[in-house]
This record gives sequence, C-alpha cells and structure tokens, in this order.
Amino acid sequence: MKDLTGDSKDHQLTVALRIRPMNEAEMEEGAAVIAHKVDEQMVVLMDPCEDPDDVLRAHRSREKTYMFDVTFDCTANQDDIYVATTKNLIEGVISGYNATVFAYGPTGTGKTYTMLGLDSEPGIYIRTLNDLFKVIEENSEDMDCSVYMSYLEIYNEMIRDLLNPSSGYLDLREDSKGEIRIAGITEFSTSNAREIMQLLTKGNKQRTQEPTAANKTSSRSHAILQVTVKQKSRLKGTSQEVRVGKLFMVDLAGTERASQTQNRGKRMKEGAHINRSLLALANCINALSDKAGRATQFVNYRDSKLTRLLKDALGGNSRTVMITHISPASTNFEESRNTLMYADKAKNIKTKVKRNLLNVSYHIAQYTSIIAELRKEIERL
Ligand code: ADP
Ligand code: MG
Repeated sequence: MKDLTGDSKDHQLTVALRIRPMNEAEMEEGAAVIAHKVDEQMVVLMDPCEDPDDVLRAHRSREKTYMFDVTFDCTANQDDIYVATTKNLIEGVISGYNATVFAYGPTGTGKTYTMLGLDSEPGIYIRTLNDLFKVIEENSEDMDCSVYMSYLEIYNEMIRDLLNPSSGYLDLREDSKGEIRIAGITEFSTSNAREIMQLLTKGNKQRTQEPTAANKTSSRSHAILQVTVKQKSRLKGTSQEVRVGKLFMVDLAGTERASQTQNRGKRMKEGAHINRSLLALANCINALSDKAGRATQFVNYRDSKLTRLLKDALGGNSRTVMITHISPASTNFEESRNTLMYADKAKNIKTKVKRNLLNVSYHIAQYTSIIAELRKEIERL
C-alpha cells in the first residue's frame, strides 16, 4: 500500500482488485473459477479454453497475470477492503487534502456491495464516515470541524439528488477558482451512523435501475457520495486558516458493453449515454496513463458529467484509489479480461495533491457581506 498521508506532491493512483465469491447462477451454469489471487498483489486469469484441440488457442498462453497495489478474493471481508483502500485517506481529508475512491467493474461484480454494502455488512461509505467522526471527536478540543454530505446520481448525462429526487435535474457549475459545484444539491450534516446508513440506503433505492440481459437489476447510473470537511484549529497562536478537504466515494455504472446487454431502444440510448461517461472516463485514463508522459496528450474532461466531476480525482488535486471488481467465473472471462486490462492501465496515472486552505480574510469577507445584507433587511423593516 502506498503512503496516502503526508504532504507529498506526486501521487500515483492506487489500484486495488476485488474478486467476489461465485454466485448461485454461476454455480448452476457449471462455471469454473478462473480468477485466482496468487499473493497480496498478483492475480492470475485463466483463459477457459473450450476446445483443447483448437490449434490457435494452443499457441497462446492460457493464463495471464496482473499486478495491483492490493488484491482481494472471496476470503476478504468488508473491513479488509476498507482498511487497505480508504481508511488511510481520512486524516488527509481532515487536514485539507482531497481524496477519491471509486468502484469500477461490470454489473454484478460487487461495486455497490463494496461501497454501500448491507446493513449487516456495511461498506466503505459508512465505515469511512464512522472513522471520520471518531477522529473529529477525539480531536474536538484542538479543532473545530464541520462535515457536509451530498449523494447524487449521474444517469443519461443528467444529475439527480438522490436525497431529494423531486428537485429534478441539477446543473454543474464552475466557480471562479475553477472548482466544479452542483447547484441546488442537498447537503446534510449529521454524525449519527444509523441515520447516515438510512439516508444512503434510501437514496440508493432512488437510483435508476433497469433490468438488462446482463443482470436482473443492473445499475445504469453512477452514484457519488461527496463529503466535505472544513477544519479550523482552536489552539491559540496557530494559523487561522480553514482547511477544506473533499472526499468523493463513487459507485460507477457497470462497464459491460452495449452489445453484451443486447440493448435496444430506450436502453440503447441509455447505454450510449452511460458509455459516453464511461468512454470519457476510459479516454481520460488512456491519456493520463500514457507511459511516455507526452505533454501533447490532451485529456478531455469536458466530454461527460462524470469526468468533469472526477477531474481532480483523475489528473488533479486528489489522492485516488480505484477498486476494480471482477467475477471469478469462466462465464465472465471476456469481461474480466477487459476490466483487468483497464485497471492495469490506470496504475500509471499520477495526480498532484496539495492542501486546500482558505484564509481567515475569506471568511471575514463572507461575514461582512452577510452583515450588510442583514443591515439592509433591518432598514426595510
Ligand atoms: P454491482 O454493483 O457491481 O452491479 P452488486 O454489488 O449489486 O454488484 O453485487 C451483486 C450481488 O452480489 C449482490 O447480491 C451482492 O450482495 C453480491 N455480492 C457482491 N460482492 C459480494 C461479496 N464480496 N460477498 C458477498 N456477496 C457479494
Ligand atoms: Mg451496483
């Protein structure tokens, strides 16, 4: 595991792999296990050769190995994944660094299980928030922290507030500092873990899900939990800077291709849009992971809502972890191979992290304008 704390400049994207257990359908189909964890980093994917006499296949290597920062198989539990991928990001977020964790992989491979999880097996969202509040509580004498959360969905290139779906589609806006904001999104502030889990589970039920041939309840949308932490020291004589750290936790739509899901009509269009976001993500990963580091490689973040929102996570100011998901079954060989190839590329991505500081004059300016507004109101009375 790379060092995710400390004030370093360059950060390589951390790539983790999670191979979920075989499911009932795969076992009923008589699928074989073809993805094996070899050690903490290495995985081997066997090519399920159906015809051993196939001359062409016989000439190819029937197994390929891939290396990641950390690899998990069905023996890993939710806490193992959380500790190895996300726990180390928390201190950084409190000190004003941005971080992103995203779940990547085809539908049905366990992305939502990893990020949201079940009541009995909570995932990364709730474990991260619990630890975040614990650290804040332990340091409450020395620092004054506030935490805001939003939960949104990108579906068909439109943004919806999962905590307030009736608010319609929301716009992305860029502020004067070039930071992307979502206009009108609900921000909730609570440190009650049960309440958060209820909000997120309810929000997740609002996600747009359409059955496809690939899976009964395929997630056709990207879900993003955005957590902002503002921190100021209470200690006398220390700087009055406000540190602002943002943490994005992203559950991406399934990466399977439209051809495989036999999409038609409405779903075809939807597939095209989903692919637009995923394609834009893939293009960004391609450009950013260019090993030669050619300065001419243009990274087009503006091509989709997802890449606009994840701009910092990919090439900017963020420590980023990608958790790749695959099924272990021979019936999903092609999907698993494609997914592993992408994850392998993403390893080359570098980001540049810096602490986000707002100095006290920024707040004074804000308060001055609030006071002026209030004065005007009083005069009107
Ligand atoms: P995705 O979000 O990638 O489409 P899900 O998270 O919905 O996939 O997982 C599909 C099914 O497999 C769910 O019923 C989920 O509970 C189960 N599942 C996924 N990963 C695991 C795991 N590591 N252990 C146990 N069950 C899992
Ligand atoms: Mg899902």
